[in-house]
Amino acid sequence: MIYNVASLLTGSLGDSEQYEIENERILIDGRSIKEINGSVRLMRTDASVLVSGDFESIMHDSCVRCLEPATVDVNVTMEEEFSPTNANLMGDISSTPAEEYYLYDPALVIDEQNSLDLTLGLGQALLSALPIAILCKEDCLGICPICTVNRNTIECSCVKSSVDPRWAGLAGLIEKGAESVD
Ligand SMILES: [Zn+2]
Ligand SMILES: [Zn+2]
Repeated sequence: MIYNVASLLTGSLGDSEQYEIENERILIDGRSIKEINGSVRLMRTDASVLVSGDFESIMHDSCVRCLEPATVDVNVTMEEEFSPTNANLMGDISSTPAEEYYLYDPALVIDEQNSLDLTLGLGQALLSALPIAILCKEDCLGICPICTVNRNTIECSCVKSSVDPRWAGLAGLIEKGAESVD
């Protein structure tokens, strides 16, 4: 997902190029986002290259409730401006002093070879689109906190008991106390 945008930078305002992304994969923050598909449009603006596109992907993780493997669909619409290191190529429209590059997100900078690398910017966009809680299924029953079985596969008796077994002993003591008063 690296595109040479030299011709866009030296071209005219509004010039654009379209690319298809098929079955790509991005590793970011220790997570692997796979089967990334979509199309991306690169358009020259006055001082940058505007990247826009719609992407679909999937990610494998563990369900937060039952800890079993879960697959989530991650879809995102991305629209970001990438700033060129060689701003001089864009003519006298743009002249960003070199020191200002510190202000840019490194994921959104076109390098000295005029390569626009979409990987990090798209990875960040996909990560931000992840659900906060990843579930194997919407109605996952999770793990029983008492006997630790996966309640999606085994129906344990703990859930039916009104008294938490951890307090059963205490309940017995209270009964004894009541008897001794008599
Ligand atoms: Zn689950
Ligand atoms: Zn249980």
